[in-house]
Formats: sequence, C-alpha cells, structure tokens
Amino acid sequence: MICRNDCIHRDGQDPLREIRQQFVLPPGIIYLDGNSLGPLPKAVPERIEQVVRQEWGVGLIRSWNSVGWVDLPQKVGAKIAPLIGAQANEVIAADSTSINLFKCLCMALSLRPERKAVVSEQSNFPTDLYMVEGVRQFLGRDFELRLMDGDQIEAALSDDVAVLMLTEVDFKTGRLHDMRRLTEKAHAKGILTIWDLAHSTGALPVDLAAAEADFAVGCGYKYLNGGPGAPAFIFVKAELQSQTRSPLTGWFGHANPFDFTTAYKPAPDIRRQLCGTPAVIGLSALDAALDIFNGVSMSMVRTKSLALSDLFMALLAERLENEFDIVTPQDPAQRGSQVSLMHPHGYAIVQALIERGIIGDFRAPNILRFGLASLYLRFVDIFDAIEGVSAVMKERSYLTPRYAMRAAVT
Ligand SMILES: *Cc1c(COP(=O)(O)O)cnc(C)c1O
Repeated sequence: MICRNDCIHRDGQDPLREIRQQFVLPPGIIYLDGNSLGPLPKAVPERIEQVVRQEWGVGLIRSWNSVGWVDLPQKVGAKIAPLIGAQANEVIAADSTSINLFKCLCMALSLRPERKAVVSEQSNFPTDLYMVEGVRQFLGRDFELRLMDGDQIEAALSDDVAVLMLTEVDFKTGRLHDMRRLTEKAHAKGILTIWDLAHSTGALPVDLAAAEADFAVGCGYKYLNGGPGAPAFIFVKAELQSQTRSPLTGWFGHANPFDFTTAYKPAPDIRRQLCGTPAVIGLSALDAALDIFNGVSMSMVRTKSLALSDLFMALLAERLENEFDIVTPQDPAQRGSQVSLMHPHGYAIVQALIERGIIGDFRAPNILRFGLASLYLRFVDIFDAIEGVSAVMKERSYLTPRYAMRAAVT
C-alpha cells in the first residue's frame, strides 16, 4: 500500500518543489485542471497593475515605444521558443490557437496546390477540424479531410496528401504521438505538417527542430499559465517563412505598418504572422507567467509529470480497481501530462469532486480528465485527490441529482 507519508517524503526530494511558491493556489483546493486553465502566477497581478496604471494610465500612447508594447508579440514568442525546440525568430505570440490554425492551414495548402487531402485524427480537438472545414469554404478548394484513428495515421500518408495536421497530446485521452517519426514519414511523401501543441507546451519537452516540423500552434492559457483567453502562439519553420504569407494580411503583419502605404508588403520575418494590434494586457500577463520557466529543465518537468501520473494510476489500481477504465496509455512514451478515466457518471463524479475541492474536468461523452502539472502539484496532492475520488465512489455521492445538471463550460 502506498501511504500518505511516502508521498510527503517524495515531495521533500522533488527538485521542482520550490516553484509552487510562485503560484496563487487557493487553500483547500487540489488543482488538476491546469491543462485547461493554468493557475495564477504571483507575478501576474503586479505586472498587470503596472501595465494598466503606469504604462497605460500615465504613459498613454507613448508606451508603444517607450516600454516596447509593440515588440511584445516577438518578445513573448522568443520566451516560448526554447520550450518547444524552436529558434526565437520562428515563434510569435498572437491571436487564438484556432486563428493560428487557420493561418497554418492556408499557408501549408498554398505550398501544395496540386494535392487533394488533409489528414488528421478522428479524435482531434474539434476546433482543429472545424478550422479545416472553414478553410475549405474560404479557399473554395476541393480537398478531402481524411480522419484516421491514431494507429492508422502512418498508413494514410500517401502522396496526394498536402498536410498532416495533428495534436501531439490528445486532449481527451492524453495519448502522446511520436512527432519526430510522424513528421519524418510525412516528409518522405512530400507532406507538410502542422502540430498543435496545446497540451504539450510547458508540460513536456517538445523539439520542433529535431522533428523538422513545418508549422505549429499552441495555447497560452494551459500549461503556460497566461490567464483566461491568453494569446496563443504560431511557429513557422525558418526555411518556410519567406515562402509563406498569412492569409490574414492585417497592418501589423506589414513590413512597415506606420508607412501607411496602400499595398500590402509582408514583414520579412515572423512578424508577418501578426494581423491586428497586439493585445497588450493579455501579452503582458503571459510574458510575466513565462518567467516561471526560466532555468526550469523541461526534462525534469517530464520526469515529475510521469511520476505523478504513475502514482495516480497506481493509487487507482490499489483503491478503485474496476471502478474506472483508464484511457490514458500506460506506456510512458505514449503518455502526455494527464490521466483520463471513463465512467458513465463522469460528469456527476467531476462535480462531486469539485465540491470537495478537487478540480478536474469532464469531456463528453464520458471522460473525467485530470491534468498533472509538475510546476505546482505535489505527490501528496495526488494522494489526497485519490482519497477524494474513493470517498465519492464509496458514498455514491455523485448520484445526488444536482450534480447531473450540466453547466455551459464543463
Ligand atoms: C485548448 C485547445 C485549443 C483551443 O483553441 P482556442 O482557439 O484557444 O480556443 C485548440 N486545440 C487544442 C488541441 C486544444 O486542446
């Protein structure tokens, strides 16, 4: 039997244990939903206060130059770059993940005009698939969206395919793809790749350079802790930048926005992925949040994340055998930074847990999802969370009718 003291002991040995101090974590809460909305870093309110009261309130429009608001998208992109194995000039923070997917899809398709298909995964996050539909209508181009099961992707890489668009870590199951291998297989057939790193960035080491990935996108508000609706990022491999133009040719992507010329001329660098005026307050929050990663080794983050998910699954096996199906792969090479369980009463169980201060989330139709973020979770939190799950299952408190009422956001 694993006991609580073992977990406390492991926390004492954890090389990342001090980082937790940099977050606001409400007492009595075990937060297992940082894969959906990261918690508040302590540095953020201070920074926002400064941006709003001083930079905006006093500096007014001068702050675009005087404190470098205008460079924030690149500055934040450069902070994200080392987390995803990219060069600083390949990443920029802007817009939402969905909008950045739109740009990537248009750019990739324009590089393969004669090809007739986009391959993705059946279980991909819906917005990724919705954006393909929108791009098809927008371009008026005849191509097929081929949706495969995770294991059949390689077999679908034929030479009529323009783009392989995948999410590295599946949002529901937490299955991790081998980005390097799949990119290599795609390239062997002349297929370009778009990787969605929503559940990878800040959660595990990502190496876009080693994979030779072409395009990528990711979220600022999940494991990067940038706050609700934080700006997303877009990566375009350096070699492709001069050959590609964003379909959203707004003035901030122009080579010289303040020349106010009539004709559009894209910026020579990654700034061509910008569209309109940068969201300064959101970018500032994300900028401050990213400082937590300074000096943090992503391989240490990964080691701890796998240890947390191993512990989670071992405790489930000990205490709750047969209650749930674990849908997250047991093989660490195929596991992201979450544990997902299946249960017909999934939604109500998650609500009952939230009432006990254990916050996970639910993904329809029947998945309970627990995100495991190494920067602020302790081993003892996992122990206590499983104690909570055991209590809810034993008492059957999830059968209380009010837990079955669905809120708008699950
Ligand atoms: C969270 C998530 C998104 C979110 O996209 P937004 O445009 O920020 O709403 C996109 N793709 C995946 C795989 C996600 O997990």
